[in-house]
Amino acid sequence: MSKRPINFGAGPSALPESVLNEALGGILDFKGTGIGVAEVSHRSKEFVSLLADLENNIRTQLDVPPTHKILFTQGGGTGQFSAVVLNMLARHRLLHPTLPDEQRVMDYVITGSWSKKAMDEANRLGGASVHIAADARTKSKDSKSTDGIPAHEDFDFSADPVLIHYCENETVDGVQFSNDEQSPTSFPFHLLPAGGLWPLVADYSSSFMSRKIPRLADHAVIFAGAQKNIGPSGLTILIVRQDCIVDVDAAAKLGAASVPISMAYKPIADAGSLYNTPSTLAIYIASLVLERSKKLGGIEYYEPVNRRKAQKVYAALKEGEEKGVYCGKVREGSQSWMNVVFDVLGDNADAKFVAGAEALGMVALKGHRSVGGIRISLYNAISEEDTDKVVSYMKDFVAQNS
Ligand code: PMP
Repeated sequence: MSKRPINFGAGPSALPESVLNEALGGILDFKGTGIGVAEVSHRSKEFVSLLADLENNIRTQLDVPPTHKILFTQGGGTGQFSAVVLNMLARHRLLHPTLPDEQRVMDYVITGSWSKKAMDEANRLGGASVHIAADARTKSKDSKSTDGIPAHEDFDFSADPVLIHYCENETVDGVQFSNDEQSPTSFPFHLLPAGGLWPLVADYSSSFMSRKIPRLADHAVIFAGAQKNIGPSGLTILIVRQDCIVDVDAAAKLGAASVPISMAYKPIADAGSLYNTPSTLAIYIASLVLERSKKLGGIEYYEPVNRRKAQKVYAALKEGEEKGVYCGKVREGSQSWMNVVFDVLGDNADAKFVAGAEALGMVALKGHRSVGGIRISLYNAISEEDTDKVVSYMKDFVAQNS
């Protein structure tokens, strides 16, 4: 075992050390070509087959049905905040060519700062009005702060919306939908009966491949940047239902906004994600991560591991709360498995917690700059052993400060 620090950062974040070592080889010599993976053509047979393997790994591990295509692109989650709006507006235009724009509505579920950012982009782009379908902001309507998933009875979806956007895991706020459909903090799928071709869009940036995606087949678009669970930044993964891959130019002729070609799903899909040069190095590393994950047992392996990791950290947090040392920020039932956020009580106590952890080789525990406090990110590359180490530190910190 190396002496690398344990990186609890929220993204870009830790990658398995074995993958990094393997990648060093591929950077020098990709699949025996004698050329490194960052130097080889994205149209070479070696790279094309790597891309197919990556797609296949995602499809089999997440059980993606043939109704959905897997696309690889760039621009991150933020790029998709725009792309999803433009592609779904085009789809809506083709479905309802004569409907006035004032009658087109995009639904946003606000559970934290990332869903709020997505909604801001929809408002900026226009083409339809924005309706807040549920709102978890606790303090005031312009506060970014949320502490949980809204109650099912507070969801109010529009009739025939252009899209319904939600963020499955709020990386900054530490709020996540439950993956148990019976839970009051699950996404209210019962309001969208199965098979309805719902325009349901999910931002899975910070939980992709960490556990199964509930009701995957009923989603129009699922998107995620790679830089949390599966690779470096620069690669964005999309799972798009085929009826949402539309001819945006035909929609533009009917009055929809023009869509920049690099954001239009159809040319990307038609070209097998090679319409233009993809992020080859990021794709390579993500493919190594997913090969490793396949060998471990895929999502079936990660889901229980990630559940246990989160349970241990939240149990330590609760103990610290009882002793008046920590203050959690998220209600039980809405607590993210991937990003645990809390404050350490007392003057300068957050900084003391962070410094003490660093001295023990645990880094990147500082909360997001907009909210402060502590954030422990528990992505797939963080092992149970790594988690035990931070849990034991959390307990020691409580013992020393209570
Ligand atoms: N959505 C979520 C949930 C995120 O965590 C992030 C990034 N941390 C984004 C969207 C934006 O992604 P990017 O920085 O790749 O544009």
